[in-house]
Amino acid sequence: MSAIEQAIYRLQGSGGRPRAVPLPAKEGGPVLNRILFAIAMTALVAIPVPAAPALAAEPVTLQSVRSWSSPTHTRIVFDLSSDITPIAPDSGRTAELVIAVPGERLQLAPGVPRELAIADGVVDSVEILTVGSGARLRLRFKAESEFKAFDLGEEPGKPYRFVVDVMRPGGEAAEAQRLARIAERKRTERVRIVAIDAGHGGEDTGARGARGVLEKDVVLAIAKEVVKALESVPGVKGVLTRNNDYFIPLRERYRLAEQMKADVFISIHANSSARRGRGNGTEVYFLSTKGATDQAVADLADLENAADLVGGVPPQAENDLAEILYDVKRSGALKQSEVLAEALLDHVVEDGRLEVRGVKQAGFVVLKSAQFPSALVEVAFINHPTEGKLLSNPAFQRRTGAQIAKGLQTYFQRAGIPLLGAPAGSGPTSSVSP
Ligand SMILES: [Zn+2]
Repeated sequence: MSAIEQAIYRLQGSGGRPRAVPLPAKEGGPVLNRILFAIAMTALVAIPVPAAPALAAEPVTLQSVRSWSSPTHTRIVFDLSSDITPIAPDSGRTAELVIAVPGERLQLAPGVPRELAIADGVVDSVEILTVGSGARLRLRFKAESEFKAFDLGEEPGKPYRFVVDVMRPGGEAAEAQRLARIAERKRTERVRIVAIDAGHGGEDTGARGARGVLEKDVVLAIAKEVVKALESVPGVKGVLTRNNDYFIPLRERYRLAEQMKADVFISIHANSSARRGRGNGTEVYFLSTKGATDQAVADLADLENAADLVGGVPPQAENDLAEILYDVKRSGALKQSEVLAEALLDHVVEDGRLEVRGVKQAGFVVLKSAQFPSALVEVAFINHPTEGKLLSNPAFQRRTGAQIAKGLQTYFQRAGIPLLGAPAGSGPTSSVSP
């Protein structure tokens, strides 16, 4: 069983609602160790706890501690030089979580502080205590909160990662209210809602370009520019699925859009070729119900769909697929998705900066809602020397955002969907008044 499979097994094993596990508030001695060990043995069923290695073993290095704050939770990731066997409940509710790492000499890489202030209203601080032959990671929460702990398994080029997700108290309810307010505004003001999804985020960086340029950052910048450009379009409102650097599971992305009663969904990504500089240009996708356009496209869809594994989400059975496909056909969302993809491509490549790779189809999970037409834009190749530079250029991001906004207007026009406040028959060139 690979480390990823182990993580999946544990996530599935923890099943549904997190169990409440009482935790002592203070770090204790051997008695606490036994309690934690007992909890771990019932919670971490898939992980055999090996005998403590001899003290002469290579110390494990804590390379970094990172955190991301989303509207619903805070994710803390510990990067370690090798596997550890943390003893902690896999879920529960507490104000302070102590994770024991027995039998490991844990050393801190240069620059890693013993105490890290997070102070985002969910997690106050993380403290690393090295005690004799073991270590403890102590997380203090702002208030009593639900948490989940798991590892992210092995990935090429990545360290061993141990993750704690801490739920923001009331965060889910506040987010549901925010989305309901958007849906309400759509009803009362009769605006069209465009959900704009910046791919990846948080631990899931997406593709990488030269000089540390990350897909998750450039696509968020472009998505924000689309929202800005739509502000001057009457009758349309752009809403981001994420407005910051954090991970959202793929299905959650379109469910957010469904909750806000979006009329259209677009997901923004940057492409990457297996060998640097080999690929370039723009392609726009809509959902395929019969497999991918070709093998390269199938590979790309697999890569984008792997985001959930990177972010620690177990794969889901596709037993709802037949129903979704039926709905897609019935609602005509698929036909409209093609119109949307073509309109977006027409405008993103209109100034000739980017080569046209065409409109294609593949089974992207993020496009599987039947509630609205949706498309995925692979703006350009992040690992192409010229396009990588363009993607991280604010002027390019602004222009691309404006072109995607124009593509959306063209879509509404071609689909015969009137926009409130826009003169009848107006297209993207005649409806830019603020
Ligand atoms: Zn992507």
